[in-house]
Amino acid sequence: MQEKHYNAFSQALVDWFTEHGRDYPWRRTTNPWDILVSEVMLQQTTIATVLGRYEAWLRRFPTPEALAAADEQTALRSWEGLGYYRRVRSLQAAAIAISERHGGRFPEDESAIRALPGIGDYTVGAVLSFAYNRPAPLVDANVSRVFARVFNDTTPIDSNAGRKRHWQLAARLVHRNNPRAYNSALMELGQTICTTGSPTCLLCPVREYCTATQPEKLPVKLPRKQSTLLEHWDIWHLTTEGLLLEKQPDGKRHEGMYRLPRREQEEVAQLPHLCDQKYSVTRYKVTRHLYRADHATPRAGECHVPLNALPAIPMASPDRKLLQRYLHQSTPH
Ligand code: SF4
Repeated sequence: MQEKHYNAFSQALVDWFTEHGRDYPWRRTTNPWDILVSEVMLQQTTIATVLGRYEAWLRRFPTPEALAAADEQTALRSWEGLGYYRRVRSLQAAAIAISERHGGRFPEDESAIRALPGIGDYTVGAVLSFAYNRPAPLVDANVSRVFARVFNDTTPIDSNAGRKRHWQLAARLVHRNNPRAYNSALMELGQTICTTGSPTCLLCPVREYCTATQPEKLPVKLPRKQSTLLEHWDIWHLTTEGLLLEKQPDGKRHEGMYRLPRREQEEVAQLPHLCDQKYSVTRYKVTRHLYRADHATPRAGECHVPLNALPAIPMASPDRKLLQRYLHQSTPH
């Protein structure tokens, strides 16, 4: 796209979004806290999942001060099903900073927003444009794909050069008068029309500016790292005192959360096998083998959690699923 078309490109996106933009709860608000929560949720979770959780979560934590005052276990438990729990820890750290540094009022100054814990370039751009309607750039995977195609750019989008170029383009192209609609439009174009694989160019509001010759081959990415296989052997030990669980210590990925106790493969070799569970987390492919242990001595960090306390403790989704599957089948001994 030639520079002389930049303004027309941005205006075409705003016009298209004004008529066709989707209605999401986070688009009906300009409250910066509500915007921040939606952006943090949407970073690694699908829109459909976030739609089912967003409003209820905000009713529970309607202000930074409400989340700042919650204990960590309550915050983690509230995030179950959304995954990537470090996000709620960061959100709580930001909420505490807003309470302590700004008296509970969400800051409006860019440098103060940027100084909040866990806030990166994307989130700064999202809060400034969606909450305050300021012409701040914003780049996510959808925006990068659109830029790579519109500019027929084969620089890998996940390389430093690709990232730098797209942030510069985002700053240059952002609509000066309606950045809120423009940034939403750019992301929505990538979500609905300029999608991965084959885009629907016939419906595209900016096709007259697009220079992609083979859009289905863009964007280019750096070669992917191979996924790593992980295998774990867990036990299911239910007694009249409760279910044996291990609380993750500080510094671990799921710090403060509970999971089924882990053992060495040789230790479970003679136990009845209950099931295998497979799932992927980032570049890890995990297989967990679950065995029923009629006898088990709690190790460091392990304790029996009464059945009526299980709903309130934080657990990652794979563990919660195993609990739901086996609790009603198991008899304490
Ligand atoms: S014309 Fe096609 S490739 Fe270009 S921006 Fe629109 S949908 Fe994407």
